[in-house]
Amino acid sequence: MMKANLSEVKLGEIFEPVYSLTSSRVPDFKILLDGQWVALEQRIEVRSPIDNGLVATVPSATEKEAERAVVSSYENRNSIRTIPAVGKIDIFQRARELLLENKDSFVSVLVREAGKPISNAEGEVKSTAERLKLTPEDYGKIRGEHIPGDWSDETVGTSADVLREPLGVVLAISPFNYPLYITATKVIPALLAGNSVVVKPSSKDPLAFLLFARILQVAGIPSRALNVITGRGPLGEYLGRHEKISMLTFTGSTEVGRRLASIAGLKRLHMELGGKGSAIVLADADLDLAAQETVKGSLSYSGQRCDAVSRVLVEQKVADIFVKEILKEVEGYKLGDPRDPSVKVGPLIDSSAVERVHGLVTDATGRGAELLAGGKYEGNFYQPTVLDHVPFDARIMWEETFGPVIPIARIRDVDEAIALANKSRFGLDSCVFTNNINLARKVAKRIEEGEVTINAAPRHGVGYYPFGGNKDSGIGREGIGYSIEEMTRLKTIVYNWRPAKVWADLTKENQ
Ligand code: NAP
Repeated sequence: MMKANLSEVKLGEIFEPVYSLTSSRVPDFKILLDGQWVALEQRIEVRSPIDNGLVATVPSATEKEAERAVVSSYENRNSIRTIPAVGKIDIFQRARELLLENKDSFVSVLVREAGKPISNAEGEVKSTAERLKLTPEDYGKIRGEHIPGDWSDETVGTSADVLREPLGVVLAISPFNYPLYITATKVIPALLAGNSVVVKPSSKDPLAFLLFARILQVAGIPSRALNVITGRGPLGEYLGRHEKISMLTFTGSTEVGRRLASIAGLKRLHMELGGKGSAIVLADADLDLAAQETVKGSLSYSGQRCDAVSRVLVEQKVADIFVKEILKEVEGYKLGDPRDPSVKVGPLIDSSAVERVHGLVTDATGRGAELLAGGKYEGNFYQPTVLDHVPFDARIMWEETFGPVIPIARIRDVDEAIALANKSRFGLDSCVFTNNINLARKVAKRIEEGEVTINAAPRHGVGYYPFGGNKDSGIGREGIGYSIEEMTRLKTIVYNWRPAKVWADLTKENQ
């Protein structure tokens, strides 16, 4: 195959203001700053995880541009707030149409910059379009409330309206693994709720979101209500501590999330952090289904998902049959160049991810785990890997894997599974496989995770059901309407009706 860059791809005409082509035909992207698409001299190279090909360059913004972005969003925060709901809904409908008309550009970019298999890239675009459709529906349900005052002696003769108001400027910092979708799930509810936004996407794969910002601009979002700047981590710290920012919505590693929380000061925080999803397979489970879902949950996008299954706890008495099913299922997951439509597992994001994953696998085998499949890599391509009899002192049982590895441990019974799941420092997702619905419910209630899925792999998907982390997995809940609530605050307006004698007049009418 050709070198993985964008030279064989024609991006839609709508995106022309977003980049220029260098003499070697590498797109040189711009940032959206104070209503203009701006190029900067300092650049960051975006290289493809497929073969390290140069996909594009993007500006390496400094504190100067970060400051300009915040001031622009702050000074223009009323430009989005004053658009009536019907107007905002029209804008998002138009954005959805434009996204779908330009689907091929997004898929091509996601495959090359993030190394996503084509079907995963298509799924990401589809979920973003779905989110554009569903968020306005939930927006209409968030209306605030009216509270009559006559339940307390102190407030008789008064009443209050409790409104939901925008926060001001929302800062969105997003990870590499869903560069379009996760960033969009922060920006769509923030704008709909009437906030202006500053975005800092991952510098590993920032292109898809820059294209999406163009879509929002053309659809009618006031340009200065949305500023998008590219730059490495420390730029995020400058933004994260900025006092003109009212809310920080961050998705990424627990380590960076903790750092940001420690410097953020008095702003609202929404933190979607790391995970360590267990699949608990009980003796009465449908083992075919459990194996299919476990493998899908572990290997989709090479396991680089916060909701990935990254350890399996199977009851001893069915473990041998289950492991055979897993090995059969893994054979269906072809590893290779994600531009080939038959490929289901592409590369990891970069060589340091490969080293980290391999370190976890060799640590496990060094402690006695049995390597049943995979365990090798070439470039950034890590083979789908199955480890059995993994001891509980292996790092892979506790650390986030973010790679295509299925570590299996055998457990005595359901109580041991729950105890092990709850010993994790993470608390994002788990799943349980059983045909006993009462037992499933009991396990779900006892597990300290934000979401427990019964008889399927965890999947945050479009966010139709709310999700989010406990413990080291984060703060807050993400979901279509839930995200809008997190991005608004309550304003209480109290009315004193006593001088108007409203009740006294009503009494007169009864005389
Ligand atoms: P990451 O390294 O923490 O980076 C996330 C974002 O933070 C990137 O934009 C990154 O910018 C920026 N950043 C890095 N250092 C920073 C600093 N000191 N201050 C401010 N910002 C900084 O995470 P990642 O490797 O991209 O993503 C994988 C992680 O995200 C995994 O742990 C995964 O579990 C988690 N995740 C969680 C969820 C969820 O819903 N809970 C969903 C998806 C992913 P640069 O790229 O420029 O360094």
